Amino acid sequence: MPLSFTRSWSNEELEALRATAARFIETEMQPQDAAARQRGHVGHALWRRAGALGLLCTDIPEAYGGGGGDFRHEAVIHEEMARRGLTGLSNSVHSIVAHYLLNHGTEAQKRQYLPRMARGELVGAIAMTEPGAGSDLQGVRTRATRDGDSYVIEGSKTFITNGYLAGLILVVCKTDPSQGARGTSILIVETERGPKDDEEGGMHRAGFQVGRVLDKMGMKAQDTSELFFDGVRVPADSLLGGREGQGFFQLMGDLPYERLIIGLSALACMEGAYEATLAYVRERQAFGKPIAEFQNTRFKLAEVATQIQVGRAFIDRCVEQLVAGQLDTATASMAKLWGSEAQGRVLDELVQLHGGYGFMNEYLVTRMYADARVQRIYGGTSEIMKEVIARAL
Ligand SMILES: Cc1cc2nc3c(=O)[nH]c(=O)nc-3n(C[C@H](O)[C@H](O)[C@H](O)COP(=O)(O)OP(=O)(O)OC[C@H]3O[C@@H](n4cnc5c(N)ncnc54)[C@H](O)[C@@H]3O)c2cc1C
Repeated sequence: MPLSFTRSWSNEELEALRATAARFIETEMQPQDAAARQRGHVGHALWRRAGALGLLCTDIPEAYGGGGGDFRHEAVIHEEMARRGLTGLSNSVHSIVAHYLLNHGTEAQKRQYLPRMARGELVGAIAMTEPGAGSDLQGVRTRATRDGDSYVIEGSKTFITNGYLAGLILVVCKTDPSQGARGTSILIVETERGPKDDEEGGMHRAGFQVGRVLDKMGMKAQDTSELFFDGVRVPADSLLGGREGQGFFQLMGDLPYERLIIGLSALACMEGAYEATLAYVRERQAFGKPIAEFQNTRFKLAEVATQIQVGRAFIDRCVEQLVAGQLDTATASMAKLWGSEAQGRVLDELVQLHGGYGFMNEYLVTRMYADARVQRIYGGTSEIMKEVIARAL
């Protein structure tokens, strides 16, 4: 009997959304992927198209322009992209940003930004990491200083997903450097970049500059950029939630959501890679027979299939817990740790089963292998996940 990848949390409505997502991905994303990987971003038009099809902000209430669903609606879209190795449209970061606004923003902030994010007019990014501060976010040096009715932002950020295309960036800043974590706030910065597809983009807010689209090992179609803030002035009501010093509290509150996205995308990627490899080894011949018939190939695939099935049970339970509002940070960190580490191991084995073709970028498993590496690093490294889990023991 073939291995089936059913989800305990799915239903007819979600499978219909999955079919819509798959159609969009196959007809509009996949054909452009090679060009997007060369260019380092997917362009604004694809974001607006995803918005028009109702594929963005699916778990944001309808009152704010979203789809009115829950995390399962997001999950089917993340899964369909991950199983095809498509990373260009970082819907995950976009959704994370929408959730910061939903969970911590003022009513005016939600009304101002969420509908435009759902339409794909504003691409969302979150800028925490700096050249000198990654795992240890207390070391953030970007400063926001109150000046009359404005804040003035000085500093720089790096490795920012969606940074090149972003129209809305949540910038983690120090508003009171003497206060440590309690002196950290999140500022909402509209970049004022026009909805253009050209290399230069539109006009930027004065003092804001997007650096290079960074040249990465994998996830080539996803724009990751440096951002520079040189006296960027934003209205005082751009403070997320309207109160200073809430930044760390806001960041910590949404961690289960972010970490589960990485865990579940890792699993969906393994599923897609497994299916592609199964087809490959049945086709490819060596020593007069398909390589699928060698005991080593059968055993490796049996191990991978077992990991996927066991992982599915855990990830599905995490999805159900998140939807019920019961997923704690330590368990979500386990999902991220286990998913990203298993993804690395599994992709390594599946590349091996492809022989030399597994080293060629035209093969799905090759691109997935390169893309998988960062899953253990961003969103909190594996070592930081272990710290978080260990603290809860
Ligand atoms: C492709 C990509 C996309 C990204 N997107 C974003 C984004 O959208 N927004 C954003 O803000 N950031 C983003 N990041 C940054 C990412 O979150 C950081 O790179 C990550 O958190 C690690 O920080 P660092 O690079 O400064 O490494 P460091 O913190 O310098 O860590 C280096 C090593 O030290 C280890 N280490 C650090 N502290 C400890 C400890 N206490 N115990 C044990 N080991 C430790 C780490 O695990 C790691 O192995 C992205 C990064 C990449 C590569």
